[in-house]
Amino acid sequence: MIPQNKKYEILNNTFGHKAFRAFQEGAVDAILSKQDLLTIIPTGAGKSLCYQLPALLLDGLTVVISPLIALMNDQVVALQANNIEASLINSSLNQEQIESVIQQIKNKEIKILYVAPERFQANGFLEFLSSIDISLFVIDEAHCVSEWGHEFRADYQKLSLLKQHFQTTPIAAFTATATKKVQQNIVSSLNLNNPLILRGETKRENLTITATKRVGNGHSQLIEFLKDKKNQTGIVYTFTRRETQSVVNFLIQNGFSAKAYHAGLSNEIREDVYKEFINDEINIVVATIAFGMGIDKSNIRFVVHTSMPKTIENYYQEIGRAGRDGLESKTLLLYTKADEISKMAMMDDITNLEYRKLLEEKLNFMYRFASSSNCRHKTIASYFGDEIDPCGSKCDNCTKEKVEQVDITIDSRKFLSTVFRANQSFGQNHLVDILRGSKNQKIYQFEHQKLSVYGIGEDKSKNEWDAIVDRLFDIDAISVGEYRAIKLTPYGLKVLKGEDQVFIDKDKMGVITHHNFILDTSDDEPEFFEELKALRTEISKKEQVPAYVVFSDKILVTLCQTLPTTKEEFLAIDGIGLAKWEKYGEIFVQLIAKIKQQNNIQDNIIEIKQTQTLEIKKLTKTYLDTLELIEQNNTIEQIAKIKGVQNSTIVSHLKVLYQHQKLSQEQLQHLLNPIKEQFPAELKNSIESLLLNYDIKTLKSQLSLYEQLFI
Ligand SMILES: [Zn+2]
Repeated sequence: MIPQNKKYEILNNTFGHKAFRAFQEGAVDAILSKQDLLTIIPTGAGKSLCYQLPALLLDGLTVVISPLIALMNDQVVALQANNIEASLINSSLNQEQIESVIQQIKNKEIKILYVAPERFQANGFLEFLSSIDISLFVIDEAHCVSEWGHEFRADYQKLSLLKQHFQTTPIAAFTATATKKVQQNIVSSLNLNNPLILRGETKRENLTITATKRVGNGHSQLIEFLKDKKNQTGIVYTFTRRETQSVVNFLIQNGFSAKAYHAGLSNEIREDVYKEFINDEINIVVATIAFGMGIDKSNIRFVVHTSMPKTIENYYQEIGRAGRDGLESKTLLLYTKADEISKMAMMDDITNLEYRKLLEEKLNFMYRFASSSNCRHKTIASYFGDEIDPCGSKCDNCTKEKVEQVDITIDSRKFLSTVFRANQSFGQNHLVDILRGSKNQKIYQFEHQKLSVYGIGEDKSKNEWDAIVDRLFDIDAISVGEYRAIKLTPYGLKVLKGEDQVFIDKDKMGVITHHNFILDTSDDEPEFFEELKALRTEISKKEQVPAYVVFSDKILVTLCQTLPTTKEEFLAIDGIGLAKWEKYGEIFVQLIAKIKQQNNIQDNIIEIKQTQTLEIKKLTKTYLDTLELIEQNNTIEQIAKIKGVQNSTIVSHLKVLYQHQKLSQEQLQHLLNPIKEQFPAELKNSIESLLLNYDIKTLKSQLSLYEQLFI
């Protein structure tokens, strides 16, 4: 029996945590009492610790089966940084290296071994394992055993053998996402024996989820989203390889550091990009889904999708790569109906009809999620079979200010009536064609021009009709049947009969909307972060480990906020254990002491606060004159010269024009960039340091007072 205080001691000294997080202790206790375990917890909830901690308390070897080579490497490096004896066997090793690891295992020099699932196909591997003392098997990404999962892997099926060969050795399986069906499937495929099932809420508290209709190529929405994230790390997922490069070019033009990553690049280039990203040398990777499998970088602050993923599972896993350190992170999904259609078309070659139907349903749900007005977190949770309350503050739908509601009851009834009259046998595009009085061939083929509903929706654009249809899906008035035919639900029938009204948010009516221009100067990054980060980079380069292995961003932020200069203060920080203190404590304390001295900080922390919202001015002639000059391709400087005013006056005109949607975000940036670049760097620094203590209004008035008094 392992004494209770032993686990707290390791938690504290080795992992540097003062307390277990939700679920961790239950999982640790189950493993220590040799019970099988299935844990379904969201990414970032602290999964690894659940098995790494008991691994150190148990006598024998813990074998972790993980499908992802990159992840294994990172985990082993991170463990070694905490002085834990860990190693791996996978296809990146040659025979000699494998022999050497095996020898270490025989000598009991390793506590935790990571292996790839295909290793179990190799001759003699199971026999080898039978010859040593194994205390625990861990199966990571356990949803891969399930045929119902989205990432079924044949290699994982072999793992059903584990229970036959090792009847008394407990198995702990982990996954971040599993519907109830997949959950059952995992238990039966792995032959788990009366397992403890820990199912966390499918909710990432620190992720803010936004989904919005893509306008054009989405570039201006991307820049709008990124404008306050200049130095942050993130991933942008695109649909095609070609799009990765065009987004990269666009980001670079706008002053971001970004690189492309997709399956068409050579291994060498991909490895370089991966490394640069892990080591914080580039901020943004623009990738097809080939990127990020098993990535363990904890400080990813945002994930953007420029088009819709195929399933909620994919989507949730991809956005789940943000914010693993628990700090606030943002996600943006840009989508259109066309995304769904083009992905549907890709399924046309799938011959297994049952499988294809499953994929179509998943895609369908994905689209409904994107176009929905319900809480994003709640919708995702319900997909995985969890019931949670609306988040209230962490998604666009919950935080949206009250949007004007448009009554679309009559239009809804027009559409539902069309569904009914076309015998519930046609897809959305055709139904909208009937409503809009289209003259295409298919209409005549089915004689739909003779229906009484033909042409009664001419007053609305296709976009508007699509928005109405989205809303009808959203409120479950219609559903999709075979061959994508739209059908009425019982509720839809009620609406058709005029027994209920339908409303839509005004901004969802398929009309392009712009955000108001807000000078957003809030920055989440605390003061001195850059200094501490530079030191971390230096250490990570010297030791050739990823930066987060030294200290995560979360720890750096805490260091900035608390500025500890003694061992006690240092160890009081969550995530810093004795090993980290011994390795890096001294050198960080020196830097922090220097920072404190230079900034004359005793214990008070400097506050920076600046928020300014611009009020919208009326669009008068002077602004329109400026617009005309812009349209004649003049730069800001040229316009200022022509009009005999300061550059700043013209810049203020641009902002008014932008607010009135006379200029796009892209045009605005294009005009502003040269002026920004010309701004003297030294002066900018001086102003910014003044802004730490004064707001801009005070500065302006004091500056003119100064001019009057002293010059
Ligand atoms: Zn919400």
